[in-house]
Amino acid sequence: MRTVHIFDVAPLRPPLGGDVPTQALVVVDDDRVTAVDAGYPVEVFHDPSPIGFEARFLRLPPRPDAALVGRLASVGLSPDRLTDIVVTHLHSEHAAGIADFPEATIHVSAIELADATERASPRTRLSYRTRFFAHGPRWRPHTGGSSWFGVADCTEISEGIVLVPLPGHTAGHCGVAVLLDDGNWLLHTGDAGYRDPVSGLSAAFPLGLYERFTATDRAAHRQTLATLRRLAARDGVHLLSSHRIPLRLPLTLTAPSIRTGPAIRSGPAIRSTEEKP
Ligand SMILES: [Zn+2]
Repeated sequence: MRTVHIFDVAPLRPPLGGDVPTQALVVVDDDRVTAVDAGYPVEVFHDPSPIGFEARFLRLPPRPDAALVGRLASVGLSPDRLTDIVVTHLHSEHAAGIADFPEATIHVSAIELADATERASPRTRLSYRTRFFAHGPRWRPHTGGSSWFGVADCTEISEGIVLVPLPGHTAGHCGVAVLLDDGNWLLHTGDAGYRDPVSGLSAAFPLGLYERFTATDRAAHRQTLATLRRLAARDGVHLLSSHRIPLRLPLTLTAPSIRTGPAIRSGPAIRSTEEKP
């Protein structure tokens, strides 16, 4: 049996942007627990300065219970049960949390790992924070080789968990497809795009802006959006973006084996304690 939890592991509050979740999946199988993305580590909720300039406009609330460690505890799982983390890409709010799981195997696209660790261009130096990888993660880089619903260069990480290249936001950006017990696939699309894949409607501020200005490769990004439109039109494939607002299941999906963790909302108390100069 497989249970899939959806948790907000990096609740963001950009100026004028309201509450923006960063959704991670925790896939609980009989013999293993796998996470898709890891959010921020506990330490960053106590002191966000390690995430650099982003701390000023992501305005993380002081809620260490939102970190993946706390989210696992909320469903009765100790951190050592999490043996595998599959990351969509290595930007901080998706991957810094791997620092809390030094024993876990970290599955990532080989392109993404090279970009984030070599930091050969000004863009990669600006957008990746290597201090969260200083503990020597057990990286498992993947280069693909199989096809998933017509998308090439996919890798099956374990049974029913597939790394799906969706480049553009970063060169090695991937989605992660998880097969649910009812035969549906849930595709976590990471930061591949925030617009509605069916209608093409752009995401509200500030995600629409973020999507346009952060794309590393605009041609690849357009291609990825076309892939998402094609996949969204298929029966049995359901898309979930990292920063979907509000935190919820894809509207098309009501599987009994999938559960949504409580949203983290920014109350006035949180706002006043977080906004340190
Ligand atoms: Zn990103």
